[in-house]
Amino acid sequence: MSEERLARNARIYVAGHRGLVGSAILRRLQEEGFSRVLTATREQLDLRDQAAVNYWFRANRPDYVFLAAGTVGGILPNSTRPAEFLYDNMLIHATVVHAAYLYGTRKLLYLGSSCIYPRECPQPMKEESLLTGPLEPTNEAYAVAKIAGIKLCQAYRRQYGCNFISAMPTNLYGPNDTFDLRNAHVLPALMRKFHEAAREETPSVTVWGTGTPRREFLHVDDLADACLFLMRRYASEMHINVGCGTDLSIRKLAELMREIVAPYARLTFDASKPDGMPRKLLDTRRLRAMGWQPRIDLREGIRKTYEWFREHAEEAIEGRRMTPASA
Ligand code: GDP
Repeated sequence: MSEERLARNARIYVAGHRGLVGSAILRRLQEEGFSRVLTATREQLDLRDQAAVNYWFRANRPDYVFLAAGTVGGILPNSTRPAEFLYDNMLIHATVVHAAYLYGTRKLLYLGSSCIYPRECPQPMKEESLLTGPLEPTNEAYAVAKIAGIKLCQAYRRQYGCNFISAMPTNLYGPNDTFDLRNAHVLPALMRKFHEAAREETPSVTVWGTGTPRREFLHVDDLADACLFLMRRYASEMHINVGCGTDLSIRKLAELMREIVAPYARLTFDASKPDGMPRKLLDTRRLRAMGWQPRIDLREGIRKTYEWFREHAEEAIEGRRMTPASA
């Protein structure tokens, strides 16, 4: 396998640098001492606009691109705003991939999601299970856009010889996540709910759905580590899963969060809210066989994230990620 040296003065563009994933990649690049990391806010560059993206690429000529931009959200916005999720994400992936091809980017890493796999997928979900069955309806629009992104990278690789690769992370959490309850994923939503419940006289938290679905959670700093690892070491057409290898039920997650944030809180379940996929656990043998493994366990990761949340509660609660190109 050819290894990318990633010179310290390489021009590296992180698309989506204000979001959960992009900000973690940015932190990691800065820690490693990369001196020419490029970013653009959504006010500076609308990633849905091909002409604007071409102009930006022509002016900045990134050698490497981490494509972590998109319109994202938890189960509710995903199922109630399918048009935005499909339109924004399809365009964002297409414009950045196309510009990377046009302006000679050496390598691009595209970030997908574990929701690309079929609803009834055998668990843990292997890379080969893509497009083997119908998708989970609550995240179908997002998944279709993400699948198109994978196919786009493969197509540019086949037709033009571009070194574009795709990574599929499991459910992520960490600093700069969305804590706005309408848009958040389960982990930050529960963190905020318990945080607020802790101040009440009779603390109680409502968990959506039945509590039985199972999810796998990876700290975003582990994902950033995997992204740099893959940028250096992976150069295949097949997308590659990034996860920690274990999952737990939403009920267990709620109990763990309660233990850390508000030990006396009572749990109730709101079965009128959707459960979504019954289980999402990635098969990560391909990545582990290359020598990568996560370092942050869930309890430690939640503690660290809760510390961050308490320091940044106000801005975290505002929820500033639900607009295009900011994920
Ligand atoms: P998903 O992984 O795409 O289904 O997205 P989510 O992280 O939004 O939801 C995961 C599971 O957690 C679903 O079964 C939700 O119903 C459940 N859940 C329980 N409480 C909450 C909550 O407060 N917010 C969210 N987003 N999900 C919750």
